[in-house]
Amino acid sequence: MKTQRQLLNGWGRTQKVTSEVVDLKQITDTENIFSEANGAGVIARGMGRAYGDAAQIAGGRVVIQEDRIDDSQLSGNHLTVHGGVSLNSILNSYVPKGYFVPVTPGTRYVSVGGAIAADIHGKNHHLDGTFTNHVSQFELITPTGTHQIDKDLDEDIFWATAGGMGLTGIIVKATFEMIPIESAYIKMETRRCTNLDELMAVMLGSDDKFRYSVAWIDLMAKGGDIGRSVLTRGDHAILDELHGKRAEQPLKYVANTKLEAPKWIPTGTLNTVSIKAFNELWYRKAPKLRQDQIATLASFFHPLDGVGSWNRIYGNSGFLQYQFVVPNGQEETLRKIVERLSAAGVASFLAVLKRFGAENKGLLSFPRPGWTLALDIPIGQENLSSLLNELDDEVLGVGGRIYLAKDSRASGPTIHKMYPEIDKFAMIKSKLDPNGLIKSDLSRRLGLI
Ligand SMILES: Cc1cc2nc3c(=O)[nH]c(=O)nc-3n(C[C@H](O)[C@H](O)[C@H](O)COP(=O)(O)OP(=O)(O)OC[C@H]3O[C@@H](n4cnc5c(N)ncnc54)[C@H](O)[C@@H]3O)c2cc1C
Repeated sequence: MKTQRQLLNGWGRTQKVTSEVVDLKQITDTENIFSEANGAGVIARGMGRAYGDAAQIAGGRVVIQEDRIDDSQLSGNHLTVHGGVSLNSILNSYVPKGYFVPVTPGTRYVSVGGAIAADIHGKNHHLDGTFTNHVSQFELITPTGTHQIDKDLDEDIFWATAGGMGLTGIIVKATFEMIPIESAYIKMETRRCTNLDELMAVMLGSDDKFRYSVAWIDLMAKGGDIGRSVLTRGDHAILDELHGKRAEQPLKYVANTKLEAPKWIPTGTLNTVSIKAFNELWYRKAPKLRQDQIATLASFFHPLDGVGSWNRIYGNSGFLQYQFVVPNGQEETLRKIVERLSAAGVASFLAVLKRFGAENKGLLSFPRPGWTLALDIPIGQENLSSLLNELDDEVLGVGGRIYLAKDSRASGPTIHKMYPEIDKFAMIKSKLDPNGLIKSDLSRRLGLI
């Protein structure tokens, strides 16, 4: 088996570790993946877009797969692909054929394995749920063998793996339902909201009329401006809504990376002053209300992918993302948290607020009905750690939780309280991996197994 020692980290570039990386295609006998790792631990890795330490294991083995779409199969609306295939490759191949992925996160550079393992959500959770809601089956390599997992026949393993952060095995193939589309465009509405109350009222009142909805909040605004935001909502445009060149080639899909972030940027380039200025500019340039605008899929869903390796702009110390959900009815808690972040002057550019709909059966899945706020924060801000610990308590106190795929700092006891089905998860995992060979830095840090 050909392995390579590599320095790995998550998207936030905080915890850098050395692991032995092996490509699944080099492995002829899959049982060796686990047995030859000398107990140091094995974990799957997709495109490394989890922010923290989920897809790495210091001193252990990390299994990667090719992003190879050529032998994908579409049967009706159901697509079967390898676990390492990225949403980017799927969109490039299938949008021109009239299909869109059921759920996409804020980046298209995630693998299908990573999408299932984190049970990702998009701007349509309030109506369509998570990615695994649309998955019907997958193939899982574990220390006890290779298993074909069907959502209806193998509920326990299915829902332990959905959101299970790679800890039940390596997903090597999956089948999920695609959305038929008439065009590669979104008909969207942009609305500026002057504060958090207005934003929440608009989202509660009319989000259900739009398949996709997301609000970008200026967390650095103060006083009466707290929570000022730009809400964008939309649906896939139908043929009748397109004109000119777009109508001639409705399924032409263009998604380019226009810029590449420089290789080295001094730590501190993104600071309170620069972020405040950016947020101000961005809020002012948004229209008060613009309806029926036609946008490309890439500009609506993945604006950040327009800049390659943008995570470097935070400098060498990196950054973290704090994402939590609080249940419906806990709008006061959300407001309190936004006020605390604003008062603390947390330098976050463009925090994102979304609404979650119904919960699925994923034992470690993050979404539950309510409000979710996600914010990127540069490392180094004074008292950040204690502030976030206090916010964890607020979130936990009202039955909320934070998202494992974004986490790089929470404590095990807090996570155990937020995810009460961890014990059931560990029991199912132990049947697939009786010797505890599958682990990650995240699972060790949080005591997930
Ligand atoms: C800019 C940006 C925006 C994002 N927006 C969102 C969002 O809107 N919604 C959302 O839900 N998430 C979002 N994310 C997080 C991202 O969707 C998840 O972290 C996702 O898991 C990343 O997929 P990946 O292929 O990069 O997996 P990695 O980061 O490599 O791994 C993530 C986890 O999946 C496991 N894993 C990966 N591949 C496999 C496999 N084949 N088999 C088993 N386990 C596997 C790993 O072990 C690890 O635990 C965002 C991330 C970024 C960087």
